[in-house]
Amino acid sequence: MIPISKPNISKKEIKAVLDVCKSGMLVQGPKVQELETKIAKLCGTKYAVAFSNGTAALHTALYAAGVGPGDEVITTPFTFVATANAILMQGAVPVFVDIAPETYNIDPTKIEEKITKKTKAILPVDLYGQIHDVKALKKIANKHKLKIIEDACQSINASYKKRMAGSCGDAGCFSFYATKNMMTGEGGMIVTNDEKIARISKQYRSHGQPEHIRYEYFHLGYNYRMMDMVAAIGLVQLDRLETFTKSRIQNAALLTKGLANIPGIIVPTVMKGHRHVFHQYTIRVTNPFPLDRNQFAKYLDKQGIGTGIYYPKPLHLYPHLAKYLSKKDTFPISEQFSHQVLSLPVHPLVSKKDIRHIIKTIRDVYEKN
Ligand SMILES: *Cc1c(COP(=O)(O)O)cnc(C)c1O
Repeated sequence: MIPISKPNISKKEIKAVLDVCKSGMLVQGPKVQELETKIAKLCGTKYAVAFSNGTAALHTALYAAGVGPGDEVITTPFTFVATANAILMQGAVPVFVDIAPETYNIDPTKIEEKITKKTKAILPVDLYGQIHDVKALKKIANKHKLKIIEDACQSINASYKKRMAGSCGDAGCFSFYATKNMMTGEGGMIVTNDEKIARISKQYRSHGQPEHIRYEYFHLGYNYRMMDMVAAIGLVQLDRLETFTKSRIQNAALLTKGLANIPGIIVPTVMKGHRHVFHQYTIRVTNPFPLDRNQFAKYLDKQGIGTGIYYPKPLHLYPHLAKYLSKKDTFPISEQFSHQVLSLPVHPLVSKKDIRHIIKTIRDVYEKN
């Protein structure tokens, strides 16, 4: 079976964890700080603040950017639920905007009609590993004085022109969940150039306590800290990240070449100026193709090819989020695509032979029907 994802752990990660265990410094300590310094360097930001997971990072970034109860935050319904849940955690209201068909990311042309007096921020997602439309969003945010919090959980090491994922707005958030391009099991990070956002974020992750004064609490906080053992895995993964990234990009290029000109199969588009890091390689299975998406996924599974559906239902259809919709809200592209998207294995442990098997299997379905 070629799995859709697989944690990539070498002896180095294992040794790094053991070393921390032996050091006796288990909780947030020197390894966390080293990881923060190195992630900030990768992203070209002044600050990086580590978290226990990506959702905690998103929640905190919204708080630190000044989003609070009753504020509206504009985001996409075509993402993982944590994007919108982070908005709810701040007592704010998620306002969904449909996606652009080529990028699967929030459609900038549909944002302005959703801006009200209560709008505080835009929360774009760099879905599948490609950064959102930075230029268009910045223009809108500047015009309406909105913050941009970038959900870069799937896009570490992606870039748009000279800008790294995470550094495109006021703050950016990463996840190091086990399936992500760089992983620590569970883990997350905020990167920012804003001193205030960095400072407040450090307090929020640790009970509202300022960094160097114990038992003083400036405001509500959580326990969102990262452990040193986790950061130690992250440091090894960060060393390997560029190799991982190149391998994903290469696998994606082979898939795109091999799947060209199959009627009904729509391969991913890499937008001009972008480095897409292919957290997912997502095709769409559409009408002229002989099988529908679900039949096709089942068939591939029988042929030993694991697939994933990201995501089977847009967020506005879940009851806890649907209650914030207004009557005239529609999201036709997200709804249609949720029935068509299918992600194929693209991670660094997928071999060239695996890729050939995937391409041949898919071509055969088309040619034999
Ligand atoms: C993984 C992910 C998250 C959440 O990260 P966790 O580390 O699992 O909390 C949020 N948004 C997106 C788009 C993700 O892919």
